[in-house]
Amino acid sequence: MDDLYREVIIEHYKHPGYRGHLDPHDIRFADNNPLCGDHIEVTMQVGEDGVVKDARFDGHGCAISQASADLLIESIIGKPLEEVKQLNKQHILDLLGIDLGPVRLKCALLSLKVLKAGVYGLGEASDELVE
Ligand code: ZN
Repeated sequence: MDDLYREVIIEHYKHPGYRGHLDPHDIRFADNNPLCGDHIEVTMQVGEDGVVKDARFDGHGCAISQASADLLIESIIGKPLEEVKQLNKQHILDLLGIDLGPVRLKCALLSLKVLKAGVYGLGEASDELVE
């Protein structure tokens, strides 16, 4: 892993700007990645115009899962839900700035999977959401 990006990930892991739980919220979803033990909950407030007013994540797990959640939440505040629905794997990879093997990729994509399942109002999250 490139040292510069490693520092970015560790910084977001240790000092997340968007960790928390919004109450009240319009959207809430939570899921985990059993391969690594990562858990992520996302809560969001959405305006009548369909724009994300505020969002937070909570959870625990490895540095990649938590840092990618923090970066993802930061990237969606102020965006229309329609735009959030289009986000895919590449968005997370761009935020993290590193290439990941298949195991670490599951950690990195957990927050996006949770976010999209919540936005789409699904009963459960599936890997197809983040392809
Ligand atoms: Zn993990």
